[in-house]
Amino acid sequence: MPPINISKLYTVDRYITEQEDLHPEATGEFTSLLRDLMFAIRIISRDVRRAGLNDILGLTESTNIHGEMVRRLDVYANEVIYRAMNHSGHLCAMISEENDELIQIPSKYKRGKYILAFDPLDGSSNIDVNITIGTIFSLYQKIDINNTNEPTLEDILQPGYRQKAAGYVLYGSSTILVYTTGNGVNVFTYDPTIGEFLLTYENLKIPKKGRYYSCNEGNYFKWDDRVRQYINYIKTPGIDSDKPYTMRYIATAVGDIHRTLHYGGIYMYPAEKNLPNGKLRLLYEVNPLAMIIENAGGKATDGKNRILDIVPNNLHQTTPIFMGSPENIDELMLFLENKHPYQLMNKITD
Ligand code: MN
Ligand code: MN
Repeated sequence: MPPINISKLYTVDRYITEQEDLHPEATGEFTSLLRDLMFAIRIISRDVRRAGLNDILGLTESTNIHGEMVRRLDVYANEVIYRAMNHSGHLCAMISEENDELIQIPSKYKRGKYILAFDPLDGSSNIDVNITIGTIFSLYQKIDINNTNEPTLEDILQPGYRQKAAGYVLYGSSTILVYTTGNGVNVFTYDPTIGEFLLTYENLKIPKKGRYYSCNEGNYFKWDDRVRQYINYIKTPGIDSDKPYTMRYIATAVGDIHRTLHYGGIYMYPAEKNLPNGKLRLLYEVNPLAMIIENAGGKATDGKNRILDIVPNNLHQTTPIFMGSPENIDELMLFLENKHPYQLMNKITD
């Protein structure tokens, strides 16, 4: 008989309640918010799992069997999160990739002090081909939490270090939840038969260094010379003991980050000649992922600044991004600062 595993079984709900109990100032609002969000996630997970069946069930035309227009799954996921969260009583606004404007809380519902920013489905171009997609979220508070007026622009556009919690869900071979409240990173795996997320890793740490790099290398010729020099360097066999690195890229940012979190290495979406601010969105993609990576012991930079220090100036602004294991980011930074021995030796600094 196998030995009995004595580690505690935790649902995400119970885990967060216990964590909150450790902080006497906690009000239970966060537990309640996360519970609502996980309800939305369970619905989205179910529908992501059924996405491929829409063809054989005749739901791919413009109308379904009820005569309703069939919505794209990312638009649908957006609605599910909105409808689960708008009456929580704890939010004063939401920001979504799918909404151009700030999402207001309807006046008939109580307004709270939290702001929720989210990407309802990340990697949505991968939906139709059954590749991992995800949901990303970030929670922060109004600057003056006792002010019950509508949030100001200053409340909404806060730097990422002010996030109270951040996380993502991956709809992969399992559905998993990864989140942090600033005290380490915890991972939960969804058991659909009981409808619960169960604790799988507590305080997950990223390896100090990894031999993987992850980027859309098809954009190589649009990148800055120093980024290209770095990529050339990490691909050159024998240039030092751990090169060449191995490339992995699935183009669902949250999936690429999740692999990087476990195996180490570097993920990047640099600026391009025609995209000087990169492609990924600061408020609901990059900031939450950066908070996770930092809480796991990694680093996240736009090439000059720590991601979490950037003060946003609009809801949907983008930023170049490099994140991953601390030693990989340090190696990259030497290149970006024209200080790497490889550049100096080959006199290729610019
Ligand atoms: Mn996205
Ligand atoms: Mn999306």
